[in-house]
Amino acid sequence: MMIEHAESLRSGPDDRGHFGSFGGRFVPETLMPLVLQLESVYREARQCDQFQTEMALYLKNYVGRPSPLYFAERLTHHCKGAKIYFKRDELNHTGAHKVNNVLGQILIARRMGKKRIIAETGAGMHGVATATLCARFGLQCVIYMGSLDVERQQTNVLRMKILGADVRPVETGSRTLKDAMNEALRDWVTNVGDTFYCIGTVAGPHPYPAMVRDFQCVIGKETRLQMIEAEGRLPDSLVACIGGGSNAIGLFHPFLDEPTVEMYGVEAAGRGLKSGMNAASIARGRPGVLHGNRTHLLMDDDGQIENVHSISAGLDYPGVGPEHAWLDAIGRVKYISATDDEAVSALYLCAELEGIIPALEPAHALARVTTLAPRKQKEHLMVVNLCGRGDKDLLSIGGMKA
Ligand SMILES: *Cc1c(COP(=O)(O)O)cnc(C)c1O
Repeated sequence: MMIEHAESLRSGPDDRGHFGSFGGRFVPETLMPLVLQLESVYREARQCDQFQTEMALYLKNYVGRPSPLYFAERLTHHCKGAKIYFKRDELNHTGAHKVNNVLGQILIARRMGKKRIIAETGAGMHGVATATLCARFGLQCVIYMGSLDVERQQTNVLRMKILGADVRPVETGSRTLKDAMNEALRDWVTNVGDTFYCIGTVAGPHPYPAMVRDFQCVIGKETRLQMIEAEGRLPDSLVACIGGGSNAIGLFHPFLDEPTVEMYGVEAAGRGLKSGMNAASIARGRPGVLHGNRTHLLMDDDGQIENVHSISAGLDYPGVGPEHAWLDAIGRVKYISATDDEAVSALYLCAELEGIIPALEPAHALARVTTLAPRKQKEHLMVVNLCGRGDKDLLSIGGMKA
């Protein structure tokens, strides 16, 4: 019985938050009691029927789940190979998968009696989801955002402000996501008493990577049921983009113990893997500690975090969730990449063939679908996570048709 458990790829992390040699809990002394309290409150909530019922109700009536599993017929015809399905998480309230996780964390924050919520955001989707649920539950909301991202994601900044959030531009470093995350951590250390830190991806100190993953697993659980209903069997492959890795792990995790299901995580290759201007932490990084956990990071020879680049602000992060670092190490998931140009082309292709404008982040996954699908038989069932819609990206890609 014990052996069966240990052999499952879904049983991690261990008690101290390790996925193999990755993960853990690297936090300042002041945060330790809070992180431990969060861990125990989360463990309780997981077992609590009332919590699960409340969560399910909001997912259905507020977020709009389940999101459809859609057969992309014209893209399938175009690729002349695998049968391609879209998991349509771009249809969620607020326009991306982020809300699945934020809902869970806000319900946890309420359980802990916290009245002030802080978050960091890159493309602004996590900030918008957080501001949305803070409005819904009457909580104070502070969002840290790199000032470069404030400039390139103005619509989302406006949305957060309308929702009543205090958006604080961060002027340090590369003025992007990593700097916003540093600033949020600094705020948390100073305001531990009343503040809950709502993290937007499967990063941060334990228990965040596991907790965020569990909330995002709704994506993969629905996909499993929907594919069985549509095709009478499991999918053959899953494809998702990797920023920190939350939409990908949400799709992959419920299938990790199914040996027939192939999985592909697509990192942002920016202007090319060898250009030094990318955000491909698994392909180009090495192990180090950032934002409370040990994982693959893009660092220079002195161990300084490098400035990263991707056309999509949501993938512009120098690290990756520790569970992905582990899944890469054991070879369960294949990590590949797509460039800025490939993502833009895939965005246009999807718009033209399917009438769906995806966000630039899932456009990276779609770019790889257009090269993977043609190599598969037509019976092969491929699911790509369409984790966000393109509204936020229109101004940055308008007229850029590759
Ligand atoms: C934030 C975001 C991402 C990247 O985050 P993950 O944790 O890797 O999922 C990807 N796509 C969209 C639409 C996003 O908003």
